[in-house]
Amino acid sequence: MAARRRMATGGGIGGGQPGVTGERKPAVVASLLVTNIGQLVTGDPRLPAPGVVEGAALAASGDRIAYAGPTSGLDVATGPDTIEVDAHGAAVIPGFVDAHTHLVWLGERSEEYALRAGGASYEEIAEKGGGIRSTVAATAAGTVEDLATAARERARRMLRLGTTTVEIKSGYGQSLEAELRQLRAARALGEQADLPDVVTTYLPLHGLPDGDRVEYLEGVLHEGLRAAAPLAGFVDCFCETGAWGVDECERLLVAAREHGLRAKVHADQRSHSGGSALAARVGAVSADHLDHADDEDLRALAVAGVAGVLLPGASMVLGGAPPPGRRLLEAGATVALATDCNPGTCWCESMPLMVALGVATAGLTPAEALTAATAGGAAALGLSDRGRLLPGLRCDALVLETPRWLDVGYHLGANPVAQVIAAGRLVRR
Ligand SMILES: [Zn+2]
Repeated sequence: MAARRRMATGGGIGGGQPGVTGERKPAVVASLLVTNIGQLVTGDPRLPAPGVVEGAALAASGDRIAYAGPTSGLDVATGPDTIEVDAHGAAVIPGFVDAHTHLVWLGERSEEYALRAGGASYEEIAEKGGGIRSTVAATAAGTVEDLATAARERARRMLRLGTTTVEIKSGYGQSLEAELRQLRAARALGEQADLPDVVTTYLPLHGLPDGDRVEYLEGVLHEGLRAAAPLAGFVDCFCETGAWGVDECERLLVAAREHGLRAKVHADQRSHSGGSALAARVGAVSADHLDHADDEDLRALAVAGVAGVLLPGASMVLGGAPPPGRRLLEAGATVALATDCNPGTCWCESMPLMVALGVATAGLTPAEALTAATAGGAAALGLSDRGRLLPGLRCDALVLETPRWLDVGYHLGANPVAQVIAAGRLVRR
């Protein structure tokens, strides 16, 4: 027998209109109900960022949010199957959306980490046959199961740290079949209910191939895109001096449209090489890195509606220019924060750390950084169904170990996440 939890006394956040006494329709039976939330970070754009509601409740019906707002407005029924969570005054925030990772790789590069710390540059390491080439050699030799097994451990760590949606790129295959194996491994992770939801990106233009680059590019354009399209939502390219040029990247991104693949660009990371301008010109969903983008680039991204994805972990490890968080916001662009999780420049699964670095190095306020790690990440993946805690959206939420959402960035290097709710299910207690 379903029991009704409190009558609605007002609209609240998404509580709907106040009911007419005596004529209320039956309340939704919640499949999951979180009560006694101290601070609920909704991301509601009608409230000051990040949209905090004090003394709140969150309810899901299936994978969707049925209610998110003040306890006084809660109007859902509970039944025998309702999972009830008492937050005991802890904060609840949206699940993190990590919009840029290279999660599927084999091999490891700890020696290179030490070399770099000793002063060797990314380019010097690459010239010695290290760097991305060593990852490509190991990854291209792996089976789909090898790749999925290695990536699964990283994805589990991500979930424990609160990531409920992760984008995963290929890019370490450099032959058509090896790239497809990476995408298949990434999709296999996404089918597992206790791991983050996965969005896949085909990244054929990453490191340079061993053979002829023109031949390789033609192969990508004429075979790769068609073969990868059923396995990926996006196409991406490393537009950089010493990697792939603007013209080559533009051919890829334009050709990809016919296959339904939306564009992303690794843009202006280590030099001002034109990637941001390209992303704006082709109407990409996101331009990522941006460490060397100038103000004109950032304005162009804003005007074109391209989200800027900042990767402050990679910026910190490489020791270059800080990511332009403040300048992006001033230009009017959407900002996302992501880990760039990869074996070379940033082996990190932690979105809480990216929030901290977004504040410490990219000029963001804590509220802007948290928004960038949630709603911003969703925007950078073209997903309008997540990243905020509002009725009707996917119920991806984190019960924190602390009553203060500010602790996400303030408590440096810690994991603030106690419980993870993904698609309305409690996947980590
Ligand atoms: Zn990347």
